Amino acid sequence: MALPRHVVVCGAGVIGASVAYFLTRRGIAVTVVERSGVAGAASGKSGGFLALDWCDGSPLGPLARASFTLHAELARELATDYGYRRVDTFMLAARERGTPSGGHRVAAPSWLDGAGVVTATLGSTDTTAQVQPARFTSALLDAALARGGVLRMGLVESLIQHAGAVRGVAVGGESIEADAVVLAMGPWTGRLSGKLPLPAIQGLKGYSVTLVGADVPAHALFVDYRAADGRAFEPEIFPRPDGDVYVCGMADPAPLPDSPEAVEVCEAACDTLARAASRVSTALAAARIARRQACYRPVTDDGLPLIGRVPGVAGAYVATGHGPWGILNAPATGRALAELIADGAASSVDLRPFDPARLPAAR
Ligand SMILES: Cc1cc2nc3c(=O)[nH]c(=O)nc-3n(C[C@H](O)[C@H](O)[C@H](O)COP(=O)(O)OP(=O)(O)OC[C@H]3O[C@@H](n4cnc5c(N)ncnc54)[C@H](O)[C@@H]3O)c2cc1C
Repeated sequence: MALPRHVVVCGAGVIGASVAYFLTRRGIAVTVVERSGVAGAASGKSGGFLALDWCDGSPLGPLARASFTLHAELARELATDYGYRRVDTFMLAARERGTPSGGHRVAAPSWLDGAGVVTATLGSTDTTAQVQPARFTSALLDAALARGGVLRMGLVESLIQHAGAVRGVAVGGESIEADAVVLAMGPWTGRLSGKLPLPAIQGLKGYSVTLVGADVPAHALFVDYRAADGRAFEPEIFPRPDGDVYVCGMADPAPLPDSPEAVEVCEAACDTLARAASRVSTALAAARIARRQACYRPVTDDGLPLIGRVPGVAGAYVATGHGPWGILNAPATGRALAELIADGAASSVDLRPFDPARLPAAR
Protein backbone atom coordinates (compact mmCIF):
# COMPACT_ATOMS: atom_id res chain seq x y z
CA MET A 1 0.00 0.00 0.00
CA ALA A 2 1.34 3.47 -0.97
CA LEU A 3 1.97 5.83 1.95
CA PRO A 4 -0.23 8.93 1.87
CA ARG A 5 1.81 11.92 0.71
CA HIS A 6 0.02 14.41 2.92
CA VAL A 7 -2.45 13.99 5.79
CA VAL A 8 -4.57 16.80 7.22
CA VAL A 9 -5.49 16.35 10.89
CA CYS A 10 -8.46 18.49 11.90
CA GLY A 11 -8.24 19.57 15.57
CA ALA A 12 -5.25 20.16 17.85
CA GLY A 13 -6.64 18.52 20.95
CA VAL A 14 -4.83 15.60 22.52
CA ILE A 15 -6.19 13.14 19.94
CA GLY A 16 -5.24 15.21 16.88
CA ALA A 17 -1.81 15.94 18.40
CA SER A 18 -1.21 12.25 19.06
CA VAL A 19 -2.28 11.20 15.55
CA ALA A 20 0.02 13.90 14.10
CA TYR A 21 2.89 12.76 16.32
CA PHE A 22 2.66 9.12 15.28
CA LEU A 23 2.18 9.97 11.58
CA THR A 24 5.28 12.18 11.52
CA ARG A 25 7.21 9.47 13.38
CA ARG A 26 6.58 7.35 10.27
CA GLY A 27 7.83 10.11 7.98
CA ILE A 28 4.40 11.17 6.71
CA ALA A 29 3.79 14.88 5.97
CA VAL A 30 1.08 16.29 8.23
CA THR A 31 -0.82 19.56 8.52
CA VAL A 32 -2.82 20.06 11.71
CA VAL A 33 -5.65 22.59 11.39
CA GLU A 34 -6.94 24.15 14.61
CA ARG A 35 -9.66 26.78 14.87
CA SER A 36 -8.97 28.22 18.29
CA GLY A 37 -5.84 27.13 20.17
CA VAL A 38 -3.71 24.06 20.78
CA ALA A 39 -5.32 22.20 23.71
CA GLY A 40 -7.81 25.06 23.98
CA ALA A 41 -10.76 22.77 24.72
CA ALA A 42 -11.10 19.67 26.96
CA SER A 43 -7.55 18.54 26.23
CA GLY A 44 -6.20 21.59 28.05
CA LYS A 45 -8.76 21.65 30.84
CA SER A 46 -9.10 18.05 31.91
CA GLY A 47 -7.69 16.11 34.81
CA GLY A 48 -4.92 14.23 33.04
CA PHE A 49 -5.40 11.21 35.28
CA LEU A 50 -4.21 7.88 33.81
CA ALA A 51 -5.05 4.35 34.92
CA LEU A 52 -3.67 1.04 33.69
CA ASP A 53 -6.57 -1.27 34.45
CA TRP A 54 -9.71 0.78 35.13
CA CYS A 55 -11.11 -0.02 31.69
CA ASP A 56 -10.49 -3.77 32.03
CA GLY A 57 -13.60 -5.80 31.30
CA SER A 58 -14.75 -3.30 28.66
CA PRO A 59 -13.69 -3.11 24.97
CA LEU A 60 -11.52 -0.16 26.06
CA GLY A 61 -9.32 -2.37 28.26
CA PRO A 62 -6.57 -3.20 25.71
CA LEU A 63 -6.49 0.39 24.37
CA ALA A 64 -6.09 1.75 27.90
CA ARG A 65 -3.39 -0.74 28.86
CA ALA A 66 -1.44 -0.02 25.67
CA SER A 67 -1.82 3.72 26.28
CA PHE A 68 -0.72 3.55 29.91
CA THR A 69 2.50 1.84 28.78
CA LEU A 70 2.97 4.31 25.92
CA HIS A 71 2.56 7.25 28.31
CA ALA A 72 5.58 6.03 30.27
CA GLU A 73 7.59 5.66 27.03
CA LEU A 74 6.53 9.08 25.73
CA ALA A 75 7.53 10.75 29.01
CA ARG A 76 11.06 9.51 28.29
CA GLU A 77 11.01 10.18 24.51
CA LEU A 78 9.50 13.66 24.35
CA ALA A 79 11.93 16.43 25.18
CA THR A 80 9.51 18.36 27.43
CA ASP A 81 8.61 17.97 31.09
CA TYR A 82 4.81 17.89 31.07
CA GLY A 83 4.32 16.68 34.61
CA TYR A 84 4.12 12.95 33.99
CA ARG A 85 4.37 11.09 37.27
CA ARG A 86 3.00 7.99 38.96
CA VAL A 87 0.50 8.57 41.79
CA ASP A 88 -1.24 6.69 44.58
CA THR A 89 -5.00 6.92 44.29
CA PHE A 90 -7.65 6.88 47.02
CA MET A 91 -11.43 6.87 47.34
CA LEU A 92 -13.00 9.08 49.99
CA ALA A 93 -16.47 9.78 51.31
CA ALA A 94 -17.18 13.36 52.41
CA ARG A 95 -20.17 15.59 53.15
CA GLU A 96 -20.56 19.35 53.00
CA ARG A 97 -21.99 19.11 56.52
CA GLY A 98 -20.90 16.52 59.05
CA THR A 99 -18.70 13.47 58.65
CA PRO A 100 -19.61 10.08 57.15
CA SER A 101 -19.97 7.43 59.84
CA GLY A 102 -17.04 5.18 60.73
CA GLY A 103 -13.35 6.03 60.50
CA HIS A 104 -10.88 5.50 57.66
CA ARG A 105 -11.15 2.00 56.22
CA VAL A 106 -7.60 1.95 54.86
CA ALA A 107 -4.43 3.70 56.02
CA ALA A 108 -5.05 7.39 55.27
CA PRO A 109 -2.33 9.83 54.15
CA SER A 110 -1.79 12.42 56.89
CA TRP A 111 -2.70 15.40 54.68
CA LEU A 112 -6.27 14.06 54.36
CA ASP A 113 -7.05 15.56 57.76
CA GLY A 114 -10.48 17.05 57.03
CA ALA A 115 -13.98 15.65 57.56
CA GLY A 116 -13.60 12.93 54.89
CA VAL A 117 -13.23 9.21 55.37
CA VAL A 118 -10.76 7.29 53.20
CA THR A 119 -12.74 4.27 52.09
CA ALA A 120 -10.40 2.47 49.66
CA THR A 121 -7.11 2.45 47.84
CA LEU A 122 -7.96 2.59 44.12
CA GLY A 123 -4.50 2.50 42.59
CA SER A 124 -0.79 2.58 43.29
CA THR A 125 2.23 3.96 41.49
CA ASP A 126 2.21 0.74 39.46
CA THR A 127 -1.28 1.37 38.12
CA THR A 128 -2.10 5.11 38.22
CA ALA A 129 -0.34 8.21 36.90
CA GLN A 130 -1.00 11.73 35.68
CA VAL A 131 0.09 14.34 33.15
CA GLN A 132 -0.58 18.05 32.86
CA PRO A 133 -2.85 17.61 29.82
CA ALA A 134 -2.31 20.98 28.09
CA ARG A 135 1.45 20.55 28.29
CA PHE A 136 1.23 16.91 27.17
CA THR A 137 -0.83 17.89 24.12
CA SER A 138 1.63 20.66 23.22
CA ALA A 139 4.59 18.32 23.69
CA LEU A 140 3.10 15.83 21.22
CA LEU A 141 2.32 18.54 18.70
CA ASP A 142 5.72 20.23 19.09
CA ALA A 143 7.41 16.88 18.43
CA ALA A 144 5.29 16.49 15.27
CA LEU A 145 6.21 20.02 14.16
CA ALA A 146 9.89 19.30 14.84
CA ARG A 147 9.62 16.45 12.32
CA GLY A 148 8.25 18.77 9.64
CA GLY A 149 4.57 18.84 10.56
CA VAL A 150 2.72 22.12 10.03
CA LEU A 151 0.18 23.81 12.32
CA ARG A 152 -2.34 25.93 10.47
CA MET A 153 -4.75 28.07 12.48
CA GLY A 154 -8.19 28.15 10.86
CA LEU A 155 -11.65 26.68 10.82
CA VAL A 156 -12.12 23.48 8.83
CA GLU A 157 -15.36 24.21 6.97
CA SER A 158 -15.80 21.03 4.99
CA LEU A 159 -14.21 17.96 3.55
CA ILE A 160 -13.39 18.16 -0.14
CA GLN A 161 -14.44 14.93 -1.85
CA HIS A 162 -14.33 13.61 -5.38
CA ALA A 163 -15.70 10.29 -6.64
CA GLY A 164 -16.13 8.90 -3.11
CA ALA A 165 -12.60 9.81 -2.00
CA VAL A 166 -11.26 12.65 0.10
CA ARG A 167 -9.15 15.28 -1.66
CA GLY A 168 -8.54 17.71 1.21
CA VAL A 169 -10.33 20.24 3.41
CA ALA A 170 -11.69 23.74 2.97
CA VAL A 171 -10.25 26.21 5.50
CA GLY A 172 -11.20 29.87 5.44
CA GLY A 173 -12.31 29.67 1.81
CA GLU A 174 -9.05 27.99 0.71
CA SER A 175 -8.37 24.33 -0.05
CA ILE A 176 -5.67 22.30 1.61
CA GLU A 177 -5.03 19.24 -0.53
CA ALA A 178 -4.51 15.90 1.13
CA ASP A 179 -4.89 12.25 0.31
CA ALA A 180 -6.06 11.46 3.83
CA VAL A 181 -7.96 13.54 6.40
CA VAL A 182 -8.40 12.76 10.10
CA LEU A 183 -11.38 14.26 11.92
CA ALA A 184 -10.30 14.82 15.54
CA MET A 185 -12.39 17.81 16.48
CA GLY A 186 -13.63 16.41 19.77
CA PRO A 187 -17.33 17.13 20.42
CA TRP A 188 -17.40 19.42 17.36
CA THR A 189 -16.62 16.54 15.01
CA GLY A 190 -20.37 16.05 14.56
CA ARG A 191 -20.75 19.65 13.43
CA LEU A 192 -18.43 19.12 10.45
CA SER A 193 -19.56 15.62 9.73
CA GLY A 194 -22.94 17.04 8.54
CA LYS A 195 -22.97 15.17 5.26
CA LEU A 196 -20.68 12.35 6.39
CA PRO A 197 -22.15 9.00 7.46
CA LEU A 198 -20.84 9.23 11.03
CA PRO A 199 -22.61 8.27 14.27
CA ALA A 200 -23.77 10.99 16.67
CA ILE A 201 -21.08 12.71 18.73
CA GLN A 202 -22.20 14.83 21.67
CA GLY A 203 -20.43 17.06 24.20
CA LEU A 204 -20.80 16.51 27.95
CA LYS A 205 -19.95 19.58 29.99
CA GLY A 206 -17.92 19.52 33.21
CA TYR A 207 -16.28 22.10 35.48
CA SER A 208 -12.92 22.41 37.16
CA VAL A 209 -11.02 24.68 39.50
CA THR A 210 -7.30 24.97 40.04
CA LEU A 211 -6.21 25.64 43.61
CA VAL A 212 -2.83 27.15 44.50
CA GLY A 213 -0.97 27.43 47.77
CA ALA A 214 -1.32 23.84 48.99
CA ASP A 215 1.82 21.72 49.19
CA VAL A 216 0.43 18.19 49.05
CA PRO A 217 1.78 14.83 47.88
CA ALA A 218 1.23 12.88 44.63
CA HIS A 219 -2.12 11.39 45.64
CA ALA A 220 -5.12 11.35 43.30
CA LEU A 221 -8.50 11.42 45.07
CA PHE A 222 -11.97 10.34 43.97
CA VAL A 223 -14.59 11.65 46.39
CA ASP A 224 -18.10 10.37 47.02
CA TYR A 225 -19.57 13.75 48.04
CA ARG A 226 -22.93 14.93 49.31
CA ALA A 227 -23.66 18.67 49.23
CA ALA A 228 -25.71 20.31 51.98
CA ASP A 229 -28.78 20.37 49.68
CA GLY A 230 -28.54 16.57 49.24
CA ARG A 231 -27.00 16.56 45.74
CA ALA A 232 -24.54 13.72 45.25
CA PHE A 233 -21.53 14.00 42.94
CA GLU A 234 -17.97 12.73 42.69
CA PRO A 235 -15.28 15.39 42.59
CA GLU A 236 -11.84 14.27 41.44
CA ILE A 237 -8.79 15.92 43.00
CA PHE A 238 -5.40 15.79 41.30
CA PRO A 239 -2.40 17.53 42.92
CA ARG A 240 0.16 18.35 40.21
CA PRO A 241 3.94 18.44 40.41
CA ASP A 242 4.03 22.24 39.91
CA GLY A 243 2.06 22.75 43.15
CA ASP A 244 -1.36 23.31 41.53
CA VAL A 245 -4.25 21.17 42.74
CA TYR A 246 -6.83 20.49 40.01
CA VAL A 247 -10.40 19.62 41.07
CA CYS A 248 -13.10 18.60 38.56
CA GLY A 249 -16.65 17.27 38.45
CA MET A 250 -20.24 18.60 38.22
CA ALA A 251 -21.72 17.35 34.93
CA ASP A 252 -23.96 19.95 33.28
CA PRO A 253 -26.49 19.21 30.48
CA ALA A 254 -25.84 22.61 28.82
CA PRO A 255 -25.68 22.22 25.02
CA LEU A 256 -22.36 22.42 23.16
CA PRO A 257 -21.67 25.97 21.95
CA ASP A 258 -20.22 26.70 18.51
CA SER A 259 -16.61 27.09 19.62
CA PRO A 260 -14.32 26.48 22.62
CA GLU A 261 -14.21 30.24 23.27
CA ALA A 262 -17.98 30.32 23.79
CA VAL A 263 -17.95 27.75 26.64
CA GLU A 264 -19.43 29.44 29.73
CA VAL A 265 -18.08 28.90 33.22
CA CYS A 266 -20.56 28.67 36.12
CA GLU A 267 -18.96 30.29 39.15
CA ALA A 268 -21.32 28.54 41.57
CA ALA A 269 -20.43 25.08 40.23
CA CYS A 270 -16.73 25.88 40.56
CA ASP A 271 -17.22 27.16 44.11
CA THR A 272 -19.03 23.92 44.97
CA LEU A 273 -16.02 21.93 43.72
CA ALA A 274 -13.58 24.03 45.76
CA ARG A 275 -15.80 23.61 48.84
CA ALA A 276 -15.80 19.84 48.37
CA ALA A 277 -11.99 19.84 48.21
CA SER A 278 -11.83 21.98 51.33
CA ARG A 279 -13.76 19.32 53.27
CA VAL A 280 -11.12 16.61 52.84
CA SER A 281 -7.97 18.52 53.78
CA THR A 282 -7.05 21.61 55.80
CA ALA A 283 -4.29 22.32 53.24
CA LEU A 284 -6.90 22.47 50.46
CA ALA A 285 -9.24 24.53 52.66
CA ALA A 286 -6.48 27.14 52.97
CA ALA A 287 -5.68 27.14 49.23
CA ARG A 288 -6.82 29.86 46.83
CA ILE A 289 -8.82 29.35 43.61
CA ALA A 290 -6.53 30.46 40.75
CA ARG A 291 -8.64 29.26 37.79
CA ARG A 292 -12.25 28.34 37.06
CA GLN A 293 -12.89 26.43 33.84
CA ALA A 294 -15.46 24.44 31.89
CA CYS A 295 -15.11 22.11 28.92
CA TYR A 296 -16.95 19.43 26.96
CA ARG A 297 -15.77 15.85 26.61
CA PRO A 298 -16.76 14.11 23.34
CA VAL A 299 -19.16 11.21 23.84
CA THR A 300 -20.84 8.64 21.59
CA ASP A 301 -24.11 6.76 22.01
CA ASP A 302 -22.43 3.54 23.20
CA GLY A 303 -19.74 5.22 25.29
CA LEU A 304 -16.89 3.93 23.10
CA PRO A 305 -14.70 6.12 20.89
CA LEU A 306 -14.88 6.25 17.11
CA ILE A 307 -11.44 5.32 15.76
CA GLY A 308 -11.19 4.25 12.14
CA ARG A 309 -12.37 4.88 8.61
CA VAL A 310 -15.34 7.11 7.84
CA PRO A 311 -17.69 4.65 6.12
CA GLY A 312 -17.94 5.16 2.37
CA VAL A 313 -15.38 7.99 2.04
CA ALA A 314 -11.96 6.69 1.00
CA GLY A 315 -9.12 8.47 2.79
CA ALA A 316 -11.32 9.92 5.56
CA TYR A 317 -10.68 8.81 9.14
CA VAL A 318 -12.12 9.78 12.50
CA ALA A 319 -10.74 9.69 16.05
CA THR A 320 -13.01 11.09 18.71
CA GLY A 321 -15.59 10.22 21.37
CA HIS A 322 -13.07 9.27 24.04
CA GLY A 323 -15.37 10.53 26.81
CA PRO A 324 -13.71 10.59 30.25
CA TRP A 325 -10.52 8.83 29.05
CA GLY A 326 -9.19 10.92 26.15
CA ILE A 327 -5.91 11.90 27.78
CA LEU A 328 -5.26 8.32 28.84
CA ASN A 329 -6.16 6.79 25.49
CA ALA A 330 -4.62 9.37 23.14
CA PRO A 331 -1.25 7.61 22.69
CA ALA A 332 -2.56 4.19 21.61
CA THR A 333 -5.27 5.88 19.52
CA GLY A 334 -2.70 7.98 17.66
CA ARG A 335 -0.37 5.06 17.10
CA ALA A 336 -3.12 2.72 15.87
CA LEU A 337 -4.67 5.31 13.55
CA ALA A 338 -1.23 6.08 12.07
CA GLU A 339 -0.85 2.33 11.39
CA LEU A 340 -4.28 2.17 9.77
CA ILE A 341 -3.49 5.15 7.53
CA ALA A 342 0.03 4.07 6.60
CA ASP A 343 -0.27 0.27 6.51
CA GLY A 344 -3.97 -0.25 5.83
CA ALA A 345 -4.51 -1.99 9.20
CA ALA A 346 -3.76 -1.30 12.87
CA SER A 347 -1.34 -3.85 14.31
CA SER A 348 -0.75 -2.56 17.86
CA VAL A 349 -4.40 -2.57 19.02
CA ASP A 350 -7.59 -4.16 17.70
CA LEU A 351 -9.65 -1.21 16.46
CA ARG A 352 -12.75 -3.26 15.59
CA PRO A 353 -14.68 -2.31 18.78
CA PHE A 354 -14.21 1.34 17.79
CA ASP A 355 -15.15 1.04 14.11
CA PRO A 356 -17.42 4.02 13.31
CA ALA A 357 -19.57 1.69 11.15
CA ARG A 358 -20.81 -0.16 14.28
CA LEU A 359 -23.33 2.62 15.01
CA PRO A 360 -26.00 4.07 12.72
CA ALA A 361 -25.13 7.35 11.02
CA ALA A 362 -26.62 10.38 12.80
CA ARG A 363 -28.21 11.70 9.58
C1 LIG B 1 -13.73 18.00 33.35
C2 LIG B 1 -13.04 16.92 32.54
C3 LIG B 1 -12.04 16.15 33.14
C4 LIG B 1 -11.41 15.12 32.41
N1 LIG B 1 -10.42 14.39 33.03
C5 LIG B 1 -9.78 13.41 32.32
C6 LIG B 1 -8.76 12.63 32.91
O1 LIG B 1 -8.42 12.83 34.08
N2 LIG B 1 -8.15 11.65 32.16
C7 LIG B 1 -8.50 11.41 30.87
O2 LIG B 1 -7.95 10.50 30.24
N3 LIG B 1 -9.46 12.16 30.26
C8 LIG B 1 -10.11 13.14 30.96
N4 LIG B 1 -11.11 13.87 30.37
C9 LIG B 1 -11.48 13.59 28.96
C10 LIG B 1 -10.53 14.27 27.97
O3 LIG B 1 -10.28 15.58 28.37
C11 LIG B 1 -11.16 14.24 26.57
O4 LIG B 1 -11.59 12.93 26.23
C12 LIG B 1 -10.13 14.71 25.53
O5 LIG B 1 -9.53 15.91 25.91
C13 LIG B 1 -10.77 14.85 24.15
O6 LIG B 1 -9.77 15.23 23.27
P1 LIG B 1 -10.07 15.57 21.75
O7 LIG B 1 -8.77 15.88 21.11
O8 LIG B 1 -10.92 14.48 21.19
O9 LIG B 1 -11.03 16.85 21.78
P2 LIG B 1 -10.79 18.39 22.17
O10 LIG B 1 -9.85 18.54 23.31
O11 LIG B 1 -12.16 18.97 22.31
O12 LIG B 1 -10.06 18.99 20.90
C14 LIG B 1 -10.74 19.20 19.69
C15 LIG B 1 -10.08 20.40 18.99
O13 LIG B 1 -10.69 20.54 17.71
C16 LIG B 1 -10.80 21.93 17.44
N5 LIG B 1 -11.85 22.10 16.42
C17 LIG B 1 -13.18 21.88 16.56
N6 LIG B 1 -13.82 22.13 15.41
C18 LIG B 1 -12.87 22.52 14.52
C19 LIG B 1 -12.90 22.91 13.15
N7 LIG B 1 -14.05 22.91 12.44
N8 LIG B 1 -11.74 23.28 12.56
C20 LIG B 1 -10.56 23.27 13.24
N9 LIG B 1 -10.47 22.89 14.55
C21 LIG B 1 -11.62 22.52 15.16
C22 LIG B 1 -11.18 22.52 18.79
O14 LIG B 1 -10.91 23.91 18.82
C23 LIG B 1 -10.30 21.70 19.73
O15 LIG B 1 -9.05 22.32 19.95
C24 LIG B 1 -11.77 14.89 31.07
C25 LIG B 1 -12.77 15.67 30.47
C26 LIG B 1 -13.40 16.67 31.19
C27 LIG B 1 -14.46 17.49 30.52
